Amino acid sequence: MNLGHDRRFDVELSLPQRPLRGVTEFPETRTDRFAPLIAWARSWANYLNTPVGWRVSHNGTTFDEGVAHPCPHRGYCSC
Ligand SMILES: [Zn+2]
Repeated sequence: MNLGHDRRFDVELSLPQRPLRGVTEFPETRTDRFAPLIAWARSWANYLNTPVGWRVSHNGTTFDEGVAHPCPHRGYCSC
């Protein structure tokens, strides 16, 4: 997908009660550019103790997606 200079993505977290949606800018080239979103999804997964799906889309096309799982080391971990 050619994103040109547009770095704005639509993001969504599939929380059990209601999806969280927003628009975020990510750096264009870094391979770990979605790390902050994944960390956000993981923090929700830990808080809710349930897997939380995350999705990045651009103009309605899914660009990347995944599922963040709750950390099994509750309390003493930085993963
Ligand atoms: Zn952990």
